[in-house]
Amino acid sequence: MPFSVEPWLFQAEPYAQESFSHFLGRFRRANCLSSAHLSAMLGLRSHIVTYWETPSRQRRPDPSQLQQLSQFTGVSTIRLRSMWMSSDIPLHWPTRLCPDCYAEAPWHQLTWQLADQPHCAVHQRSLLSQCPCCHHAFQLPSYWATGQCDRCQLPFAQMRFYQAAAEKTRS
Ligand SMILES: [Zn+2]
Ligand SMILES: [Zn+2]
Repeated sequence: MPFSVEPWLFQAEPYAQESFSHFLGRFRRANCLSSAHLSAMLGLRSHIVTYWETPSRQRRPDPSQLQQLSQFTGVSTIRLRSMWMSSDIPLHWPTRLCPDCYAEAPWHQLTWQLADQPHCAVHQRSLLSQCPCCHHAFQLPSYWATGQCDRCQLPFAQMRFYQAAAEKTRS
């Protein structure tokens, strides 16, 4: 496949601190692509993009896959590489969220998955691993199309009020 820009694809501008999973999800939705479809475009087996979108799996594109992905997305390989942590850094398995951050910047940040950082460094509060209303685990960031719990529909940004109430009860 020649490495030329793909003018037929819609591009998604990466956000500051955005995780690879969240970015890939936005890129796929902008182009109506399933993860299996994107895998096929890259000449890969159908589950590979889903693996990339699961932060805790630590599966990353190899250099030639990264080059292709850069052509598809219009994002440099260096910028793409900055969307994940190096494989020697332990990650938290379930998807985590700081609702205060999300209220200001509605995307999944890669630092939320650092195993040894259970608190948001900006807001000094525990990161959530599940919805504080219905206790359902969060979906992979690549599926955060609407920014809400996929079971009870509580918006992520509103979860900080539930969290505040829970903290008050505990103290
Ligand atoms: Zn925060
Ligand atoms: Zn919920």
